[in-house]
Amino acid sequence: MGFLDGKVALVTGSTSGIGLGIARKLAASGAHLMLNGFGDVPGAIAVVRDACASGSQRVVHHGADMSKCADIEAMMADAVRELGPVNVLVNNAGIQHVAPVESFSPEKWDAIIAINLTAAFHTTRLAIPAMRASNWGRIVNVASVHGLVASAHKAAYVAAKHGLVGFTKVTALETARTGITCNAICPGWVLTPLVQKQVEARAAEQQSSLDDARFGLLSEKQPSAEFVTPDDLAELTLFLCSEAARQVRGAAWNMDGGWTAQ
Ligand code: NAD
Repeated sequence: MGFLDGKVALVTGSTSGIGLGIARKLAASGAHLMLNGFGDVPGAIAVVRDACASGSQRVVHHGADMSKCADIEAMMADAVRELGPVNVLVNNAGIQHVAPVESFSPEKWDAIIAINLTAAFHTTRLAIPAMRASNWGRIVNVASVHGLVASAHKAAYVAAKHGLVGFTKVTALETARTGITCNAICPGWVLTPLVQKQVEARAAEQQSSLDDARFGLLSEKQPSAEFVTPDDLAELTLFLCSEAARQVRGAAWNMDGGWTAQ
């Protein structure tokens, strides 16, 4: 059994990539899981179920669209009904769109701000009352190096992730005298479907192989020239959920192969 036995964890955007990696490790540490996200839902449930530390853990999924406040409210209510009050909240769902500011589509801007930033406000405001009642909670916001520094052509993403880091600090201050902590993690490049699209766009633009595009993307920004993995980020999340991390509050913790050290 694990240190999260009996705890209820909700990870948004956990049918793929980083969110799925985090959900697996939380399940392996004993938590019941509510997954969220689109795509291969049965596959994601199976992966997380396989990772569970015991057969008595529950793994459920809610298909809420994180751009919609009413969907998020329904998801949070369902989590409580099906599993109990949320003890561990991981705000991870996110999308990307790449274009210069002057041609950045207003619809894409709105979608990125809604999914990458506003959704975390809704889940957090809805989770905190029960966390306060039990005087324990962990909120981990999956931000990005782009919550700390910028890259060209990522206006909405950089704005949303900087916003998420700011929101993390406010939440940490408001809960500072409780057993609830709120922190952000700031990954560099992780090879997930979100980044694969950027690799493919780069290969097409430069008429290079996917391998060359992958290496080019990495070596421009990430001094280690290696991808961070969902498992690495899941281990950091587990640490932030541990008792040892109870005084880590309002951090924006990078795991970026040296990207922001430059
Ligand atoms: P991904 O595309 O593999 O996964 C995104 C997840 O979010 C999926 O489960 C998807 O179904 C879900 N999702 C997308 N739109 C949604 C919506 N409207 N409602 C509900 N769920 C939705 O991406 P990833 O790379 O694993 O990204 C996860 C998080 O990590 C994002 O917030 C992203 O910004 C952040 N991040 C990623 C990287 C990277 O290099 N991959 C780096 C830094 C930060």
